[in-house]
Amino acid sequence: MTDAPLVVVEGLRKVYRSGPKEVVALRDVSFSVRAGELVAVRGRSGSGKTTLLNQIGGLDRPDAGRVVVDGREITSLPEDELLAVRRDVIGFVFQSFGLIPVLSAAENVGVPMRLRRTPVAEREARVRMLLALVGLEQHVNQRPYELSGGQRQRVAIARSLANRPRLLVADEPTGQLDSQTGRQIMELLRAVVRSEGVTALVATHDPSLMTLADRVLEISDGVVREAALT
Ligand code: ADP
Ligand code: MG
Repeated sequence: MTDAPLVVVEGLRKVYRSGPKEVVALRDVSFSVRAGELVAVRGRSGSGKTTLLNQIGGLDRPDAGRVVVDGREITSLPEDELLAVRRDVIGFVFQSFGLIPVLSAAENVGVPMRLRRTPVAEREARVRMLLALVGLEQHVNQRPYELSGGQRQRVAIARSLANRPRLLVADEPTGQLDSQTGRQIMELLRAVVRSEGVTALVATHDPSLMTLADRVLEISDGVVREAALT
C-alpha cells in the first residue's frame, strides 16, 4: 500500500429532478482513498450509496464537484475517454451480477478483453487464471443459469478484474446472496484486493464486510463521514 490517493472526491453534489420534485442524493461529499485500500460504504437503503459509486465509476455525472481516479479527473472527461476509463481503469461488480446469459463463465470473463482487443492467447490465459483465482476452474464452460448465485458473483468478480483495473467498484455485491455465501464473496474481494493490488470501494449493509474493510465510510441522506472501525 502506498500513500498516493487512488481516488479523490471533492465537493460532490448530485441532485435528481423528476418534475417539480428535487432529491439531493449527494451533499458536498469529499474524501480520498489510498491505493490498495478496501473501503466499505455503509448506509441504509436510499442513503446515496449507488449514486456515490456511479459518480466515482464514471457511470453518471455529478451536478458539482470532481472525481479523480488514478490521476485522471473523470468528471471532466468527454464521453469517449470516459468509456475507455470505465473499460481499462475501473472494474464493476453489481448486486445482480450482470452476466450475459448465453455466454459461458469463461466467455463472460473474456468480454472486457475482447472490447479491448487483447490477443486471443493472452485473453484465454488470463481467463483461466482469473477463474482459478475465484475458485471456478471446474466451471469454466457453464452458463450463468447453471451456476449458483455465489458462483455467478465469482464470475462477475473475475470479469471485473479482466483488464487489470486500478479500482474495483462493487455495489452491494452480496445483496442477493445468503449470509454465508455473502461472507465468502466478501472474503474473496478482500483476497483479490491483496493479490491483484487493486483498490476497492464496496457499498454494503452487510456487517461481515465491516471487519474485512480497511475503512468504513458511513453515508446518511447524502452526507458521508468516516465511521469508526469496530
Ligand atoms: P442507495 O444505493 O443507498 O439505496 P441511491 O443512491 O440509490 O441510494 O438513492 C439515493 C436517493 O436518490 C434516494 O432518495 C433515491 O430515491 C434517489 N434516486 C436515486 N436514483 C434516482 C433517479 N434516477 N431519479 C430520481 N431519484 C433517484
Ligand atoms: Mg443502491
